[in-house]
Amino acid sequence: MALIVQKYGGTSVGTLERIQAVADRVIRCKEAGDDIVVVLSAMSGETNRLLGLAQEIDENASEREKDVLVSTGEQVTIALLSIALQKKGCDAISMTGDQIRMHTDNAHGKARITDIDDHNIHAHLKDNKVVVIAGFQGRSPDNYITTLGRGGSDTTAVAIAAALKADECQIYTDVDGVYTTDPRVEPKARRLESITFEEMLEMASLGAKVLQIRAVEFAGKYNVPLRVLSSFTEGNGTLISYEGNKMESPVISGIAFNRDEASLTILGVPDKPSVAASILAPIGDANIDVDMIIQNSMGDNTADFTFTVHRNDYKRAKELLEETSSKLGAREVQGKDSLAKISIVGVGMMNHPGVAKTMFETLGDEGINMQLISTSEIKVSVVVDEKYLELAVRALHSAYNLEQ
Ligand code: ADP
Ligand code: ASP
Ligand code: MG
Repeated sequence: MALIVQKYGGTSVGTLERIQAVADRVIRCKEAGDDIVVVLSAMSGETNRLLGLAQEIDENASEREKDVLVSTGEQVTIALLSIALQKKGCDAISMTGDQIRMHTDNAHGKARITDIDDHNIHAHLKDNKVVVIAGFQGRSPDNYITTLGRGGSDTTAVAIAAALKADECQIYTDVDGVYTTDPRVEPKARRLESITFEEMLEMASLGAKVLQIRAVEFAGKYNVPLRVLSSFTEGNGTLISYEGNKMESPVISGIAFNRDEASLTILGVPDKPSVAASILAPIGDANIDVDMIIQNSMGDNTADFTFTVHRNDYKRAKELLEETSSKLGAREVQGKDSLAKISIVGVGMMNHPGVAKTMFETLGDEGINMQLISTSEIKVSVVVDEKYLELAVRALHSAYNLEQ
C-alpha cells in the first residue's frame, strides 16, 4: 500500500463533469489499495475572476483582503469533489489550509510555508477517508488567510507530500507531462520521460508554468518523488528526479520562455564606483525584482546601464529611474515593455561548448535581434521583441533537434 498525494489543477476541476472524472480516478486509485490525499486548485479562470472583482473596486486593494477573496476558489472545488466522492460511495473529507494547519509567513499573496501539522490528515487517513485539501492557501502567524502565489497549489501538494513522507506526489494537469517546450507554442514539442530537478528548476524559473518553481524547490530539498501527468488521459507522465534520463542525456533538455519582460536603460550615467547601487536601490526599495543587468562603459567616463523587470513593474520602475536620472545627471532613460525572454536549458551543456553559438546563429538566421543575454552553467537566456517569441522558440526547437 502506498501513500499518494494527487494535485489537480484548474482545468482538471473546471466543470462538474471534470470533477466527476477526478472523483472516478481517485476512487480507482483508492480501490487499488493506496491511501490518497488530494490537493485542488480553483476552477480554471476563477482566481482571475475574483482578482478582477477586487480590481474593479480598487486597483490597489489590500493584499490581505485579496487573499481572503481568492482563497474561496479552492474552497468551492474541495467541497464539490468531496460531495462527488461521497455520492459515489467513497468516504471523503474536505479541509481548508487553516484546518490542516498550513502555517506560512505573513507575506500576503506570496507567502512561504513554514510548517505543516500533519496530525489531522493522518487521523482522517487512518479512518480510511480520502482527504481533499484546498491548495494555494495557508495561515499566517496572525491567523490570517494567506496565499502562496499564482500556481501555488503545486507547492501545497509537494509540501504535504514531504510532510506525510508520501511515496509520490502526482501533479495532474491539462498536458500529459513536461515537454521540451510549451506544446501550445510548438506542437512538435516532445514529452520527456524524466527530467532532473536542476533542469526543472531552471525551466520553472525561466517561465515554464507547468510547475510552480517553489514546488520544484521543495521537492528537491525534501526528496519528494514528483510526477506530472494528465488528468484527461492515461500514461506515465514525466518523472522529476535526481538522475534524469541518462540514456537521453541531450545537450539541451528544453526551451522555456516568459512573455512578461520589460527593460529599462539609463544612458550617460557617471562611470564611477557605486553607481549601480544608486540606480538599483530605489527599485529594490519599491519591492521590484530585477532580473538581468548589463553595464557598458562608454569610454567618456559615462556608462549605460540596462536591467529587466516584470512587465507589471515597468511603469513604476521607469518613474523611479527617471528620478534617479535627474539626481545623477544622466542623459536619458529609455524603456521597452513588450519583450520576451527565451532560454535553453540542459545539464548536458556543461560539457558541450558551442551551445550558445547555435542559439545565436539560429536567431540571427531568422533575423531576430537579441537585446540582452545571460548565461549560467545549465542555461542561456536571451531577451527579444515579444513579437518574435513563437518564431524563435520553434526555430531553436528545430535547431537543437528537440522533436527527435
Ligand atoms: P494547472 O492549472 O493544471 O496548474 P497550468 O496552466 O498551471 O496548469 O500548467 C500547465 C500548462 O503549462 C500547460 O497547459 C502548458 O501550456 C504550460 N507549459 C509551459 N511550458 C511547458 C512545458 N515545458 N511542458 C508542459 N507544459 C508546459
Ligand atoms: N488558483 C490559484 C491560481 O490560479 C492556485 C493554483 O491554481 O495553483 O494561481
Ligand atoms: Mg499550475
